[in-house]
Amino acid sequence: MSETKLTENINRITSFCVDHDLITEGMYISRIDGDTVTYDLRTRRPNLGDYMDNLTMHSLEHMFATYVRNSPIGDRVIYFGPMGCRTGFYLLLRDVPRELAIETVKATLERIAYNSDVMFGASRKECGNYLELSLDAAKTEAKRYLDILNKANITLAYPEA
Ligand SMILES: [Zn+2]
Repeated sequence: MSETKLTENINRITSFCVDHDLITEGMYISRIDGDTVTYDLRTRRPNLGDYMDNLTMHSLEHMFATYVRNSPIGDRVIYFGPMGCRTGFYLLLRDVPRELAIETVKATLERIAYNSDVMFGASRKECGNYLELSLDAAKTEAKRYLDILNKANITLAYPEA
């Protein structure tokens, strides 16, 4: 996976170099920058018309971000947020072993799905669109994605042709 030139001064970024027709739901390494790994948490297959709705994506974002930053590796979480295409999320972790990253993602989803009773950050002061949040939507998506990860053989490598 290498960055290719689009024009003289513009290179295609690494995440555009992955063949999205081959990506299925799962967990992958998107890129590595020094000790920071960007994980691709892919909740939907790309370009098949099945996208997270914004309520679902936003709600899961609030819950996942809060729990993962309160997890044992919380101080090594650089970022968590949704992809604009609404087929997944990016999670950036610094200096976290791969297996621990996978365990943490699963544990976080499990906590959302089965052990949460309040939507975090659901007030005007805390969020830019606080009325568009639903704990039920977050739980449903967390369950769905956790089931996928539990059945998957997670190698963290993108599928190749
Ligand atoms: Zn928000």
